[in-house]
Amino acid sequence: MERTLIRETVNKVEQKVLLFGWVNSVRKHGKIVFVDLRDRSGVVQLVGGSELKGLGHEDVIKVIGIVKKRDQRAINPKLITGEIEVLVEKLEVLAKSKALPIDIYGSGLAIDERVRLKYRYLDLRRPRLQRNLRWRSQLAHLFRQAFLARDFIEITTPLLTKSTPEGARDFLVPSRLRPGKFYALPQSPQQYKQLLMVAGFERYFQLAPCLRDEDLRADRQFEFTQVDVEISFVTRDQILNLIEEVVIEVFEKAGFKIEQKPFPRISYQEAIKKYGEDKFDLRKDPKSDHLAFAWVIDFPLFERTETRDLAPMHNPFTMPHPEDLDLLDQEPEKARSWQYDLVCNGFEVGGGGIRITDPQIQEKIFTLLGHSKEEIREKFGHLLEAFEYGVPPHGGIALGFDRLVAIALGERSIREVIAFPVNSSGQTAVMEAPSEVSPDQLAELGIKLAN
Ligand code: ASP
Repeated sequence: MERTLIRETVNKVEQKVLLFGWVNSVRKHGKIVFVDLRDRSGVVQLVGGSELKGLGHEDVIKVIGIVKKRDQRAINPKLITGEIEVLVEKLEVLAKSKALPIDIYGSGLAIDERVRLKYRYLDLRRPRLQRNLRWRSQLAHLFRQAFLARDFIEITTPLLTKSTPEGARDFLVPSRLRPGKFYALPQSPQQYKQLLMVAGFERYFQLAPCLRDEDLRADRQFEFTQVDVEISFVTRDQILNLIEEVVIEVFEKAGFKIEQKPFPRISYQEAIKKYGEDKFDLRKDPKSDHLAFAWVIDFPLFERTETRDLAPMHNPFTMPHPEDLDLLDQEPEKARSWQYDLVCNGFEVGGGGIRITDPQIQEKIFTLLGHSKEEIREKFGHLLEAFEYGVPPHGGIALGFDRLVAIALGERSIREVIAFPVNSSGQTAVMEAPSEVSPDQLAELGIKLAN
C-alpha cells in the first residue's frame, strides 16, 4: 500500500489510507480516543479506541485507516483536514518519544535560546520554524531561477582559502601538511568571483556560505549565506537595474508586496542628512509581508577608523568615482566611490560596487590603506597578476540572504531562519563546538597550546 500524505487525505473520503507521522496530541473521551497526527504536509485527526490510549506526544506511528467525513458539528475550520477524520484500523508504533525538554507547539520565543539550540532538532519541529525553512528554500530556489534565466552560471568557490584583510576577522584552519601555515575560511567569495571574471564567465552567481569571526548579534552569525553576484562589461546603473529586477521578481513570485517600484536611489550624503543613517525604513504599511527597498549610492571611498587610519567604506576593491580620482592624493576621504547598498525595511541587505581593474589604481588604494609594497605582493599579488592578463571591467553585489528571509518573514533574528545557528556566545547548535581536540590531533598540526 502506498503512503498518503496528510494533506491528501481530504481527497480520499471513504478510502483506506496508510499514514506515517508524529503524534501531536492525544485526547480521551470515554472509550473514544482522538489523536492529532502530523507529517510534513499537515495535521489530521485520528479516531480510535483503546489501542490509541498508550500513545504519547511525538511518538512516531504508522496507521492504516478509513477517511470519513466529520459531522457538521465536529468540523474544525482551523485545519485544512478539518472536514474529515481517519478511523484507525491498524496502528503500529515505530518509535516512542521521551517527554520533551521544551514545548514545540508554540512560537518558542519565550524559551531560553541556549536550550532551544541544544535541542534544535526538536525546536525545528515547531510550525513557525518548519514554515521559515520552507520559505528559505523557496526563496533560494527563486533566486537561482531568476539568475539562471538571465544567463548567469552558479559556480562554487573554495571554503579553504587565504587570509586577506577584507574587513572582518578571519576563521583560521591550521594546515597539517605545512605546519605553521594556515588557511582562512572565506569572508566572502570576493576575490574568487573577480578571478572568475578574468576567467571569462561574465555572469556569475552563487548562494555562498561566508564566515566571519565577529561579535554575534540578532542579525549577525559566524556563518551566513550571501546571494553573491559578479558581472563583466556593465555600468553601475545596469547592475542596480538587474538586481532590482531580480529582487522584485523573487519576492513578488513568493507573494510579497513591494511598496515602491522602481526602488528609490539616494546618495549616502542625503541619507545621512535625512535619516541620520545609511539604512532606513520607507514602509508606509509596516505589515510583515510589505517590503520597501531603496538603493544608497555615492558612498565615500574611505572612512576614518578610531586610530585615524583610512579604512575602505566597503572593501578595498571598489572603484573610486572617476570624477574624484584626483582627490586621492590630497583629500582621499572626500573621494566618492562606485559602491552601492541595498536597503530593505530599515536594514542593509546588500552591498557591492564596480571594481578596480587598473592595477595602478588598485596599488594606490592598498598603499593609502597602509599596506607596504611587500604586503601588497604577499596578500593581493595573485589578483594584481591576474589583472595583467586581460581583465574585463566588472562589478557585483552580495545580498544577505538570511537577513532578507528574516525580514520577509517578520522574524527579528536571522537565527530563526537558519537551521543550525550558533548561540549568542558562539556555541554551535546541538553539537557543542568549539570543543577540545586530542593531543594527537594538535601534535599532527604542530600546535602547542599556550595553556
Ligand atoms: N564581497 C562583498 C561583501 O561581502 C560584496 C560585494 O562587493 O560583492 O560585502
